[in-house]
Amino acid sequence: MSDMPVTDEMMRGRLMERRDVIELGRRIGFGNMMSLASEAWQAELELSKSGSGIAAFVVGPCKAFAVPCGCEGSKDCDWCCATGWLTKKVKEIKDAKENS
Ligand SMILES: [Zn+2]
Repeated sequence: MSDMPVTDEMMRGRLMERRDVIELGRRIGFGNMMSLASEAWQAELELSKSGSGIAAFVVGPCKAFAVPCGCEGSKDCDWCCATGWLTKKVKEIKDAKENS
């Protein structure tokens, strides 16, 4: 985390971005918005000088098919990559491995 202080202007900007995201999500569907954002981000990075889209986020399953990882979203978690969520099958494998 940055040590830079959060200003009122930064908070207003964040609220405006949130409002814009909610408006777009309601209009085109939140899952669709996230899938399109991921695809667009990967394409942008592939076109950039780095020539790779690997830094872009990918979209996972809907919450109905996911379970909490149990790591509290730790940035060091190799199971969920700090998302805090796993598929049910991966959670079974994780629990079995950790309890063996
Ligand atoms: Zn995790």
